[in-house]
Amino acid sequence: MSSGPTISPGEFTHFKTAVLEGGILLAGFDYSGKSVNVLNGESMSEWQEIVRLAEQSAAINGVVLVSLKEGNFCAGADLEQMHDAQRRRSFQEIEQLVITAHRLFDGMEQSPKPFVAAVEGACLGGGLELALACHVRITSTHPRTCFALPEVKLGILPGFGGTQRLPRLIGVPAALDLITTGKTIFPRQALRMGLADGMVTSIPSTVRTLESIQKETLVQAAIAQARVLCSTLVRRRSLRLSQRFLSVPVVRSLLCRYARHQVFKRVRNFYPAPLRAIDAVEGGMRVSILEGSLNIERPLLLDLMAGPISSHLVGLFLAGEEVKRNVATVPMAAMRIGVLGAGLMGSQIAGQLAEKGYAVVLRDVLPGILATAIGRIHTTQTAQVRKRIILPSDLRYRMMRIAPTIHIRDVRAASLVIEAVSEKLDVKRAVLAEFEAEADPDAIFATNTSSYTLADIAARALHPERCVGLHFFNPVAKMQLVEVVRAPFTSDKALVQASSLAKRLGKFPLVVHDGPGFLVNRILSRYLAEAVIMVGEGISIRRIDSIAKNFGMAVDSGHPMGPLELLDLIGLPVAMHVLTSLAVLGPRIESRDTLLRNLLPEKKPPLTFWKSGKENEQAVDVVANYCRAYPSEAGPISDEILHQRLFLPMVDEAVRCLHDKIVEHSWQVDFALTYGIGFPAFRGGLLAWARQTMTPGQITQELESLAAKHGKRLEPCPSLSTGGL
Ligand code: NAD
Repeated sequence: MSSGPTISPGEFTHFKTAVLEGGILLAGFDYSGKSVNVLNGESMSEWQEIVRLAEQSAAINGVVLVSLKEGNFCAGADLEQMHDAQRRRSFQEIEQLVITAHRLFDGMEQSPKPFVAAVEGACLGGGLELALACHVRITSTHPRTCFALPEVKLGILPGFGGTQRLPRLIGVPAALDLITTGKTIFPRQALRMGLADGMVTSIPSTVRTLESIQKETLVQAAIAQARVLCSTLVRRRSLRLSQRFLSVPVVRSLLCRYARHQVFKRVRNFYPAPLRAIDAVEGGMRVSILEGSLNIERPLLLDLMAGPISSHLVGLFLAGEEVKRNVATVPMAAMRIGVLGAGLMGSQIAGQLAEKGYAVVLRDVLPGILATAIGRIHTTQTAQVRKRIILPSDLRYRMMRIAPTIHIRDVRAASLVIEAVSEKLDVKRAVLAEFEAEADPDAIFATNTSSYTLADIAARALHPERCVGLHFFNPVAKMQLVEVVRAPFTSDKALVQASSLAKRLGKFPLVVHDGPGFLVNRILSRYLAEAVIMVGEGISIRRIDSIAKNFGMAVDSGHPMGPLELLDLIGLPVAMHVLTSLAVLGPRIESRDTLLRNLLPEKKPPLTFWKSGKENEQAVDVVANYCRAYPSEAGPISDEILHQRLFLPMVDEAVRCLHDKIVEHSWQVDFALTYGIGFPAFRGGLLAWARQTMTPGQITQELESLAAKHGKRLEPCPSLSTGGL
């Protein structure tokens, strides 16, 4: 009797295969030429062939799918292919891929032979949808293992059947939460919610071949599971009773209505994708998975993909990949990092380092400050235990990695020291001198300053080549951008070590050249200063912030915010210090010093513009007094003009930054402002938005007319009309 077609080694480019005892086909996904596995026409057609051969071969009883990439199970659809289609506005190829995926995944699901996914590393988007089409998913506890359907963050929805399979597997409420937010969950959460059927602690092999991974507990558990499933007809767990109740039509429709309400609260009407994803879930539950995938999910996906928002979001995503690609990952000289200053920023940076496995020496001048900092780090990390992302033992190890000290000599063993001391030039220079006297001769000094130049801080350094900027944004855990600042004297080694560290912390290390405010704060200062000037003209706090929020500022963080609320977050003393320092750029950085000083009462905490969600009455009184003393001649002013006054000076400053070669490309400006200050991602970034809205000539004209009416600070730079955007 023939055993049907066979699979020979080396037959595929992106998969390695072996048939094991008991007829289990082990398929190792290893996309050729990329560091992560992606699903595109090539890899999908190979997987289709493997599924076909497995089904037809009598020698194969079940399939185990694993990844041979370190830290990545599958990153999902090939976004470069998608962006290319968006640029060409030609979607036939993608549509064909989607149809193939739906038929293929349905075939796997209906197959009499069991499919088991052994998930280690990031399992994202289409990668998770592939795992969902398997009958069972076993996850490893490896730190890089995580699950997400992040499509809404790219302006689309899960398009390989995710909106259909996930609600049936984990119930409608949990599925809607994952699909509409794109949030990431970790192995323990996946197991609890039923996304994973089993979890094993596994130490991955360093050499990832099909032979070596067979010894791993994860793969052995998956093979054992496949063997068990070969002899049973029950392939899928059924929903728990409570999940079944939440899936009945009336309840489901209420849940979908609630989910729409939640989406609106979070992102207003700026992003259509989460709403269309809810439509796909709701509509799909009335029909079969295949019908829902092909007839409901697919048209919604293609419609979103063809829109400008998705194109912007995918462009920004690829810009982030480019930023990371430009940074070489070098081995750190040691895993010990020094952090000088245990205040707001130093404590957060130390917490992030400990989380990623670094030993941290945290130095401040007083034991009491260190005790507060350790308490703050402990509170933040405990939240992860509460959410069951980590175990209490993980928390203990993280805390043990931080050694608080008041002695500078304790940073001797650190290969890189991050300075986050008070924003005073003499203090920063003194700390650098102490570092030079005590630290290892090879150690790197990275400053987190927000307003001084690297040249200012290193002016008296014995070895300025060791100095670099590592400008984190607040809150450190949330903000993905880090400006890595290079001065002419910064050595390549210092730059590479600093960028590499930021990348290991999961950040986007954007290299910028030295200059006042670097890139982000320099552009931001125009926006903040203009908002303060408007307050001084008697325009209400609520009106100014509403204009920015209606434009979408910070909507992606889940907390839309105008410039005045942002000033409250930064803190008026810090903001005033930054604005004053940036006055070296010229009279265009004009802040209403007198007004700001009035908001900083002596020996009392600074006033904020907002208090408990309302305009702060005390601040409103101070502003009213100021307006009486310095009456404005501007007269009534429309929202449109206020909008232009907030955003066009930022465009002007961005063009000046490009002219001054702070960065080279306009996409870097767009990327930095989106990830650094919350410029709305759906607009594609500051300069992309400006290009779509007006020509450089029109922007120049608008700024000239604003300057004539509201002050010379608004005059456009000459390169705006000559060099464009
Ligand atoms: P902070 O005032 O909260 O903390 C500064 C800490 O430095 C204090 O605990 C102080 O005791 C300590 N310190 C002073 N002299 C020291 C010394 N010689 N050795 C060790 N520690 C010393 O300030 P912060 O907000 O954490 O800011 C720190 C740095 O980060 C500043 O350069 C600031 O511009 C920059 N930064 C701040 C933000 C922000 O939002 N606050 C954002 C980005 C960058």
